[in-house]
Amino acid sequence: MPAVAVPFAVRSLEDGIGSAYGLGSMLIEIAIFAVLIYVALRFLWATRGSVIVRGLGLVLVVAAVGYAALTSMFTLSRLEFLVEQLAPSLVLGLVVVFHPEIRRAIVQIGDASLFRRFFRRDTKIVPRLLRAIARMSKERHGALIAIERDSSLAELTENGITIDAELNSYLIESIFYPKSALHDGGVVVRGDRIVAASCLFPLSQNPEVDKRLGTRHRAALGLSEDTDAFVLVVSEETGKISTASGGKLDFDLTLEQLEQQIDAALGRKQGS
Ligand code: ATP
Ligand code: MG
Repeated sequence: MPAVAVPFAVRSLEDGIGSAYGLGSMLIEIAIFAVLIYVALRFLWATRGSVIVRGLGLVLVVAAVGYAALTSMFTLSRLEFLVEQLAPSLVLGLVVVFHPEIRRAIVQIGDASLFRRFFRRDTKIVPRLLRAIARMSKERHGALIAIERDSSLAELTENGITIDAELNSYLIESIFYPKSALHDGGVVVRGDRIVAASCLFPLSQNPEVDKRLGTRHRAALGLSEDTDAFVLVVSEETGKISTASGGKLDFDLTLEQLEQQIDAALGRKQGS
């Protein structure tokens, strides 16, 4: 009965848009949806190894849209019955299979990486890092330092030893002093603080990496492949300084080159 349906639709539209209350709740809903979508996207992008989750998310969205379109066009009671019966087990199955990814996402909420990134890039650490690296390179003390950027490294620090101290060059040198209990593994830096030491980074599986490079350099490269962290390495064997970012290892840098790279990575202006 279109004669009844149209006035009803128009009236409900007027009710929705006309009253300030309706408009207000609509705006609130849009804002909540926008925040939820933003948070979900950031989680997917920041989470390591999330390609599979992203792919699955895409498949689920396409399937849901296709299913909604089909059931609105045709009466598919058997299919609807099947979906209704299977959906809860499917959701449960996905939660079980993807619990590491879900856990990672929850760690990130707790870590509030979303809000931290606006005031995080601290540049006063640059001279302190340079001093420590220059001395460790001279002494041939091996070091591995990851500077967190947008991707949260909370998952790595969970398995390391918590430090949570303001970064200074002596502390870095003490951590990587060969007889120190913390010298094995990598340090994670967030803002101007050392979050943790003795962290295990993911090793790069890239077959093109120079075979002479050992696990320290592969760990730096691996982390830079999985996240947007900026990673610094001092070789214990040669004292050479390298950096890894975006899946690329820059080997044997001078201190000047290192400073330029850290400045660029942290967005520091010359002379600041
Ligand atoms: P170097 O030039 O300093 O010898 P390398 O690239 O040859 O470095 P290795 O000699 O294998 O690497 O270095 C081993 C050290 O690297 C370990 O003692 C440990 O401190 C660190 N390391 C190895 N694997 C990891 C990892 N997955 N995460 C963090 N640190 C690691
Ligand atoms: Mg070695």
